[in-house]
Amino acid sequence: MATLKLTRGAEARIKAGHPWIYRTQVADLTGRWKAEEAVEIVDWSRRFLGRGFYNPRPSLCCRLLTRRDEPVDAGFFHRRLRAAFEYRQEASLASEAYRLVWSEADGLPGLVVDRYGPVSVVQCLTLGMSRAAPVIADGLHRLFPEGRVHRSDDATAARLEGFEAEHDPPGEELVVTEGGCRFAVTPGAGHKTGLYLDQSENRALLAHHARGRRILDGFCYAGAFACHALARGSGQALLLDSSAGALALARRNLELNGLSARAEIREGNAFDLLRGLEGAGERFGAIVLDPPPFTRRKDSLAAATRGYKEINIRGLRLLEPGGVLATFSCSHHVTPALFEEMCRDAAGDAGVAVRVLQSLSQSRDHPVLLTVPESRYLSGLLLERIS
Ligand code: SAH
Repeated sequence: MATLKLTRGAEARIKAGHPWIYRTQVADLTGRWKAEEAVEIVDWSRRFLGRGFYNPRPSLCCRLLTRRDEPVDAGFFHRRLRAAFEYRQEASLASEAYRLVWSEADGLPGLVVDRYGPVSVVQCLTLGMSRAAPVIADGLHRLFPEGRVHRSDDATAARLEGFEAEHDPPGEELVVTEGGCRFAVTPGAGHKTGLYLDQSENRALLAHHARGRRILDGFCYAGAFACHALARGSGQALLLDSSAGALALARRNLELNGLSARAEIREGNAFDLLRGLEGAGERFGAIVLDPPPFTRRKDSLAAATRGYKEINIRGLRLLEPGGVLATFSCSHHVTPALFEEMCRDAAGDAGVAVRVLQSLSQSRDHPVLLTVPESRYLSGLLLERIS
């Protein structure tokens, strides 16, 4: 097994509970390195810190898998998968559609597994994890003997890490239930692994507030927010998205739930559509703004913030008094504090008074590790317009 020695002092971050090692923190690597074998990580004084997969290619070159002196073998992966499942079972999160493994937060950095009915959709994000995929598939078969595994790697991560992304061809359409609504999912097709599972708890929350109200689902993708709201008593929904493919999914989901008659769908750029609605004097009792990440880089954070602010000014102006806005950012660099500051500026510019009903984040099947702030990426607020 190869041994990775850290530069002097670089162990501080590891000891503080963060599993990442950057190339600049590596003093030397001795022994024979194999991508599929975890390396032993030691500090400058050769004290043992843990084991993890190493990859010389990306600047984030190693992520700790364990802090114990234990082999990273099939038994290790099986134990971690079982622990991830047990956490979700105990928290009543193991439904028909949920995230089973959330990378660092489940002690499996570089691995995401989402469950849709009997299918486990596996995303490998690092070279080491891609090599461990057969063992992971075996662990999933043990946990779910009746199930299937569908591989759907992230192409960007694969390029960065230098491995061949594996993509099983899209499987057949499944219909899964999320909190009383039915959704069509084709593993391996569309965004994410099929659904934006990270919003499942927020969809239920907004549906509660949208009762008896007209809802605007901006950036609707497959229309999951609108479906929940309509199913729970919202009178009417307007769904916006710039993608025809997304809107086709939304139509399908509205139909599956018998909600099409109360829904209107508009294709276009939300920035323009929101401006048009405002100009036309339209008002809504509930609005959700769940855009794609406006930035993936720190250096474009200012421009991204302007984008978030613009849609939120429009969203707040479109709210009737007493109406609620659920607004989100899934940009990693937009922290909850930054997001709140942006919303404060937007409320000031919009000239409306809002009450913070709740801070929002990703659903609990995407747990956050306190010492790994990167495991929290979804910031959100539930705001009520009071005047
Ligand atoms: N709220 C959804 C997920 C939204 S994902 C859910 O709960 O499932 C973001 C969506 O924004 C995608 O469907 C994408 O097509 C859409 N989008 C991206 N840029 C857009 C724009 N400028 N105007 C409207 N929609 C946009």
